[in-house]
This record gives sequence, C-alpha cells and structure tokens, in this order.
Amino acid sequence: MSRSAEFLEPRAARVARLREREFDVLVVGGGITGAGVALDLSLRGLSVALVERGDWGGATSSASSRLIHGGLRYLETGELALVRESCLERALLLRNAAGLVWPERFLFPVHQGARVGRLKLSAGLWLYTGLSIPRALGRPGWLSVPQALAAVPALRAQGLRGAGTYLDGATHDARLVLAVMASAARAGATCVSRCELANLASGTSGVEAGLLDLIDGSSSSLRARACVLAGGPFTTELRARAGLSGEWMASTRGTHITVSRRRLPTDGAVIFTSGIDGRVMFLIPWPRHTVIGTTDVDADPSAPVAPSEAEIGYLLASANELAPAANLRRADVVSAWAGLRPLLRPQQAQAPSARSREERVEREGRLYTLAGGKLTGYRAMAERLGARIARDLARGDASARSPTRAHRLVGALQNPVSRPAWSRLGPDGTPAPVDIDAALSSRYGSRAAAVRAHCRGLERGEELLAPDVLRGEHQWARDHEDACTPEDFLRRRTSLAFTDPSVGPDAL
Ligand SMILES: Cc1cc2nc3c(=O)[nH]c(=O)nc-3n(C[C@H](O)[C@H](O)[C@H](O)COP(=O)(O)OP(=O)(O)OC[C@H]3O[C@@H](n4cnc5c(N)ncnc54)[C@H](O)[C@@H]3O)c2cc1C
Repeated sequence: MSRSAEFLEPRAARVARLREREFDVLVVGGGITGAGVALDLSLRGLSVALVERGDWGGATSSASSRLIHGGLRYLETGELALVRESCLERALLLRNAAGLVWPERFLFPVHQGARVGRLKLSAGLWLYTGLSIPRALGRPGWLSVPQALAAVPALRAQGLRGAGTYLDGATHDARLVLAVMASAARAGATCVSRCELANLASGTSGVEAGLLDLIDGSSSSLRARACVLAGGPFTTELRARAGLSGEWMASTRGTHITVSRRRLPTDGAVIFTSGIDGRVMFLIPWPRHTVIGTTDVDADPSAPVAPSEAEIGYLLASANELAPAANLRRADVVSAWAGLRPLLRPQQAQAPSARSREERVEREGRLYTLAGGKLTGYRAMAERLGARIARDLARGDASARSPTRAHRLVGALQNPVSRPAWSRLGPDGTPAPVDIDAALSSRYGSRAAAVRAHCRGLERGEELLAPDVLRGEHQWARDHEDACTPEDFLRRRTSLAFTDPSVGPDAL
C-alpha cells in the first residue's frame, strides 16, 4: 500500500492542502465526535477538512473510562434505546476495530442489603443481554462467594452474596480517536491538529473560516460549503467564535486514579455502587495497574481540568469500602487525571449523574453543531449527521446506513480478539506478567509488527521505557501518529503519564 493511503502525509503537505482547496465540509474538533464525522462524510464521498486545536483526542476523548459499553447503569433510568444502540455500536467496534477494542469481563458484586440485590441485578443483566441480541457477547453468569473472592481477593467478604458477570468492551480512548482520524485521512480527509478555528463567517452558499496554525503562528482562511462544530465540552465557546449564541453545555468533571495492580488485583473489571453515595463506579484493569473511577461534579469548562484532593479521597474511600483488604492509601495513588463530560444543559436542574448522555444536533444555515453522546456511540452519531449533510448539500451517498458500518479502521485486525491476558489473574490470585507483544498489539493492532520492526531499526529502539513500552515507539509516534510534544506520547500514544509518571520528557 502506498504511504499516502496507509500513513498520514507529512503535516506540511496537509496544511498546504487546507490553504489551497475548497472543501465540502469543515469539521472543527478532533475528539472522537469530530473524527467520526470526518470519517463518515469522507466515506460518503464528500471532501472534508478536520481541524483540532490541540492533540487528537487531547480533551475529553483521552480522559474517559475507556469502556466501549452499552451502559448497564442506563437501564435504571429507563434509557433502553440508548443502551440498545450502544450495544450495537460495541459489536460493530469489536469487529471493525478488532484489537484496538477488546472484550472485557465485568463483575458486579452483591452484598446483603445492597441497593441492587441479586434478583434486580440478574433481571438487569438479562435485559442488557436481550437488548444486545443478535450480537450479544455472551450470557450473563453468577459467581459464588468463593469464586467472587478469587476474582477480587480484597473484596469485602462480610455479607457477600456472590457476583453477577457479563461481557462488555474496552479500548484505549485516545488511540481509538487516532485510528478514526487516520481512517478519515485514508478515505481522503485532510486532518490537521494544532490548528485552531479563530473565527467563522457563514452565508447562504457556505462558510469562511479563519484558522490559526499553533505550530508556526500563521493565519489562513478556508472555504467550505458547510461546517460541523464538534467542540465537546467547549461547544458554547466554539459556537461563539462562529457568531452563534446559546448555552449548550452543563459539563461535569470526572476523575480517575490508578493504583498498582498488585495492590488491587481483579480478574476483569468490576462495576459497583459506591458505599458513600450509591453512584455506579468501576475498577478497570490495565496491563500493570487498576484504574478506579469516576467522579461526577459540576465543572467550569474555562477552568483548568484537574482532579481535586476531595475526588481522590472519594475514589479511595469507595474502593476501600468495596475491597477493604486492599487498604489503599493516598501514597498508593500512582496518578490522577480528570476530563469534562460533554453533557447537554438540562431543561430543569438535575444531579450531575442524572444528566442525559444523549446527543444534540442543530442546523443554523450552513453550520451544524453536534454535541453530547459517548465515546461508544460516536459512529452512530456521525452516521445520522453524515446522512443529513449529504442530503442537504445534495452530494455523495446520503443513505441512512453509513459505509462506516462495515469499514475496518486503520490498525484493525482481521478477526475479533479475546479478552486480554493482563485482565486476568493467575491461579495464585496475582496479576498476569506483562507481555510486550500483547501491549503493542493493544496499542497498534495490525501495525504492531511494523512498530516492532521500526523500533528494531533504531539505536536503543527496543529498550524498555517501561515494562510495556519500547523506547522506539516515541519516534514512531512522531513520524506516523502526529505526536508533536512529549505529552502527546506520554499521555495519549501510550499511557506512561498515568502508569509511570517518573518517565518524563527527559527520558525521551
Ligand atoms: C470521566 C469520563 C469518563 C467517560 N467514560 C466513558 C466511557 O467509558 N465510555 C464512553 O463511551 N464514553 C465515556 N465518556 C464520554 C466520552 O469520553 C465523551 O462523550 C467523548 O469523548 C466526547 O468526545 P467529543 O469529541 O465530543 O469531545 P472532545 O474529546 O472534548 O473533543 C472536542 C475537541 O474540540 C476541540 N476544539 C474546541 N474548540 C476548538 C477550536 N476553536 N478549534 C479547533 N478545535 C477546537 C478541543 O480541543 C477538543 O479536542 C467519559 C467521559 C468522561 C469525562
């Protein structure tokens, strides 16, 4: 395959194209939503430019729980259509992004007197599975008390009744954005990061956008027949740059922490209700760490997005209540990070956790604003908007079913994968040792062998930066994945910033 088809062109060539061409659609925002729209429209045959002011997935789309899930908890609020659609999207991603998205086992421990008892849980899990048919991942199961304790050795044994089990999906969120963006580029889109929309004027025949290149400080203008604003939690601010008013968002902050997997080993992920306030929370296995999340507190999108000590304390206390034998302390926290949920402003005051994860799309002349939704449902959101834009512009394939339904993303393996070894525990209850090839495969999918060969060709390229990261991956990220700063590599091409904070820019 030629370089232009399978790899991103050099940035300079892409920037030149932005300046020279007129496009059908300009998409602003390179999180999962914008990348998804760019891919959908490109596959429908429209010419697309995608600009992102930071790194690909640099805002919310790299701060999620990394779950590709139907959303078991939305059953309680009766959002069955949302759950059904998310289960379908999960199935499509397990196939079209095989290796970059993988199945994960979830345990839901049940203690005596819990808000969600065995009966309610079993009914919920069967409904969840039923809503996934015909593409269910498997049947739900039930673990006895000894089995539940073997799966989560630190689990509170007192009052334990057992645990429900089911399968969902997991991914590396920022890398999924990268794969969607690279797939859009392969389909013909011109994708440029570190390029900010400064202002936008729109008329009846199209839009003219003022762009600021944040690498060299230059300004340019771009003409397109239509524009999609996909600013996630920054939608209100982004719309203001286009002269549009209205408070769209009521974002909330969600924080995660990581602890060593040895301090809190789990065989699969755990979903539980916090003993503090009854909110649904997760323990999620990474190769060497267990992630605990998340919080849900009102946040100001213009303020720096950082976890508070109160949130970290809440996450530790909730995990300790579930698994007291872990006895986690502040010193066990390897890293903490936060992201803003792009939640739509509710009509009436609502608790943060109760706010809908639904999407909102609005057309004002040639401008479309798309916000809300979840990582899992990005393709379906893009499909609806893509069909509408193709129809409005009378251009390309406007059918309701998008080509993305069967489109394998860049890096997808041929066949779906099974649950990764790192998510399992050995017979002695300890986490499986890290396997560098498995780690490379989960980051690069079908490109893992090429990355390995690239590292082999570099001096010290196969040296380990951490047990699951090779030194040469840094150069690969720079040359083939648009990484511009050490942070791009440490936070989003790998997870080193969260798992090994001591590996800083100096090491690169
Ligand atoms: C704590 C947390 C946990 C979550 N867990 C899950 C989960 O497990 N599963 C799931 O499915 N979903 C999850 N979500 C939701 C999911 O992460 C989001 O719905 C999704 O990432 C939003 O993507 P987005 O592209 O709309 O927004 P973003 O990723 O924020 O992207 C918007 C982009 O627009 C860019 N932008 C803004 N203004 C401009 C401008 N002027 N010029 C150029 N670019 C601009 C920003 O830089 C940003 O990158 C979670 C969210 C949070 C916060």
